[in-house]
Amino acid sequence: MVSTIQVLPKEVVHLITAGEVIDSLAAVVRELVENSLDAGATRIVVSLWPEQWRVRVADNGCGMNLEDLQQAASAHSTSKIRSCADLWKITSLGFRGEALHSLTTLAELEILSRPSARISVPLTGGTEGEVGWRVVYGHGGQILEQQVAAIAPGTVVTVSNLFGSCIARRQGLPTVAQQMKAVQATIYQIALCHPQVAWQVWQNDREWFTISPAPTMGKLIPQLLQQVRPGDLQELQLELPNSQQNSLNIVVGLPDRCHRHRPDWLRVAVNGRMVKAPELEQTILGAFHRTLPRDRYPVCCLHLLICPDQINWNRNPAKTEIYLNDLSYWQQQVSQAIEQTLRINSDTIQEAVHTSRVGKLIKVAEETGAYNTNPSTPPNPATSHTLKAVGQVNNTYIVAEHPGGLWLVEQHIAHERILYEQLCDRWQIVPVEPPIILYQLSSVQVSQLQRIGLDIEPFGEQLWAIRSVPAMLQQRDDCADAILELSRGGDLQTAQVAVACRSAIRNGTPLSLPEMQQILDDWQRTRNPRTCPHGRPIFLSLEESSLARFFRRHWVIGKSHGI
Ligand SMILES: [Zn+2]
Repeated sequence: MVSTIQVLPKEVVHLITAGEVIDSLAAVVRELVENSLDAGATRIVVSLWPEQWRVRVADNGCGMNLEDLQQAASAHSTSKIRSCADLWKITSLGFRGEALHSLTTLAELEILSRPSARISVPLTGGTEGEVGWRVVYGHGGQILEQQVAAIAPGTVVTVSNLFGSCIARRQGLPTVAQQMKAVQATIYQIALCHPQVAWQVWQNDREWFTISPAPTMGKLIPQLLQQVRPGDLQELQLELPNSQQNSLNIVVGLPDRCHRHRPDWLRVAVNGRMVKAPELEQTILGAFHRTLPRDRYPVCCLHLLICPDQINWNRNPAKTEIYLNDLSYWQQQVSQAIEQTLRINSDTIQEAVHTSRVGKLIKVAEETGAYNTNPSTPPNPATSHTLKAVGQVNNTYIVAEHPGGLWLVEQHIAHERILYEQLCDRWQIVPVEPPIILYQLSSVQVSQLQRIGLDIEPFGEQLWAIRSVPAMLQQRDDCADAILELSRGGDLQTAQVAVACRSAIRNGTPLSLPEMQQILDDWQRTRNPRTCPHGRPIFLSLEESSLARFFRRHWVIGKSHGI
């Protein structure tokens, strides 16, 4: 019998691959831009003519010599891919051949390139390294045209008439406006992973947007996220011990300053590429638990550099989904990093002094904040008394002085934050004697109280005896009311929030200086000092630099006001 099984021709395989990888203008941009980054580009110009299905990406990367150009789009060049791990190399995003070869089956492709002097190899003859070439490729990557071209070192790739040979593919795509939105999102994602790159993006021969290079991801974000100011973010860069290559860079939107109604700024990147990492995203959400208002999501961008052999290839070799071998290790690192960025320590207070701008008083106060790019030094444990209680306003706000200015701290929610974290750390149910008697509880209320661990039993007609209560409520006169409140729903954490709220010092209560100092000291040591468990901001900072500006202190230096 003759076997009818045939191995698929390579060309067909690549066509299939091309169809999967390059399915939109945004995908073309992504593939070309990744090539530019692989070539070491620090400046990338993307030009789009969506109605013509044309994309051009120009970069100042290392460029290609003629020999490389001739091979650039051939199927042969895909042999550069040796293993899946190559795809995830820290220094390489992809491989030139794959995407370019695929593109020749879907569009017209032209590349101009000139090697930069810094990487030109010893040449066999002449000055080849300094000459630019233009090559036009046909279907499958064969060369149709080739000529010397006058260009600056770098590469310019033009893809025209995308899907021209397969019009049905175009019809399945969203509107031009939606496609352009996808292009912008793609560029933003890549820019976040490569903040040191300068971007210029054109649409129909008009400048559309630009992104200036920034030293870190955190300093780039305010360009991409209009509502966010530098002081709203806290950034941390950690070299992880016990490995030469692994590092972690995280940017956290401070929960009292910014949050989103969708998880659209919850981003994880690994080795220069945005990935889907559901487990790490859960870790991030967990770290922000009970710091944000209901149904709000944090701004948090995480970029991990991980040695490729610590990435699990077997589970999913797709480009965008990733599984880490030692997931719990990474989850722990991420949790700790976020915890560190959210704490208030003497660094936070010192840094706050340097970040301010003229504006309305409240605006100024909102703007100021820590922006610590190198807090690899551990938080200073001697935080107590960096904030000094100096008074109380309206029996509601504690006025706290520190070397850089003053803060107003709302006494009730600061205390609520302290108590909530104490309750989470040691939730204690203690017996009460005599029992607390409640009446007319529904069966739902009874099971709710049982769920949070209270000892409850029928005590006659429509009566129930509560024989144990949360320790913090035990001594309170309104303990029965508090138990009723707890019976009305929510999980254990909701109950803990309710207990903390009920037990915290009310606004309107006069406090002595030592009492206020105690609250400040305890509050500074909480894990999430910026917001209460409902997500409300706890403090308003008025920095000395803003105050000096507001009071025009520079007008009176050396004059009559006695400064
Ligand atoms: Zn409260």
